[in-house]
Amino acid sequence: MRAPTARAGQTQRHRAHVRQPHQTRKLKRPLSGLLKCGCCGAGMAIKDTRKGRQRIQCTQMKETGACAHRRVYDLDAIERTVFDGLKANLTTPDLIALAEGRKDSFERGGRIVL
Ligand SMILES: [Zn+2]
Repeated sequence: MRAPTARAGQTQRHRAHVRQPHQTRKLKRPLSGLLKCGCCGAGMAIKDTRKGRQRIQCTQMKETGACAHRRVYDLDAIERTVFDGLKANLTTPDLIALAEGRKDSFERGGRIVL
């Protein structure tokens, strides 16, 4: 019998961290998990809510100060820009069906795995 190798151990650890569909979190916003900082590539997260509108900022800057990108963005404005751009560029039935599937899933309170 062969002893498990370090590589086999890594594979098992890797599998343990892969989310199964039932483990995915419900999305709070359509672009949750998709927005990245343009400077460092870290995720963007909710900073606060001002005048009823959520604002996001770089998580690396917020948590460690390692990123210099201090700008805060209005999440509603970002979503509007993204979806207006998608509508303008959805030119084939396949692309429209793909976008509608994501939107439908979100509206059902769905869990989206990309
Ligand atoms: Zn950053």
